[in-house]
Amino acid sequence: MYLSAKSSLIWFVMNGILQNLYTLQTLDLGGSKADPTQAAALRAGIPDWMLANYDRARARGKKGIALVRNHVCTNCRMQVPVAVTASLTAGMIQVCGNCGLYLCLPQPDEQAAPVPVAREVKRRKKKVPA
Ligand SMILES: [Zn+2]
Repeated sequence: MYLSAKSSLIWFVMNGILQNLYTLQTLDLGGSKADPTQAAALRAGIPDWMLANYDRARARGKKGIALVRNHVCTNCRMQVPVAVTASLTAGMIQVCGNCGLYLCLPQPDEQAAPVPVAREVKRRKKKVPA
């Protein structure tokens, strides 16, 4: 699948927002060590409605966003449908159907770490009997 210039731009923007939110959460979870200037800069790049949801979750002591690794939500460990991962890749915002957190794909450099990509592709191609 090839992305058009327009959808690559959307991907770039949305992926940036989700990465900002994830980085913000990493800072917030770091507690007192967090740099308030950096947190403010990240917040400036995240839409208000998304921040409101995130802050509500954080106020209840929960996380606001989780990474999806190998089609698994890293917060609740439930498998995420392939369609959800695909739309994340296409730059859409998705929430976990189980725990309700915003989902975000790992940065390309950390994506390869746990499971080799080749194995993942082979598993996804397997036909599931209806
Ligand atoms: Zn989840």
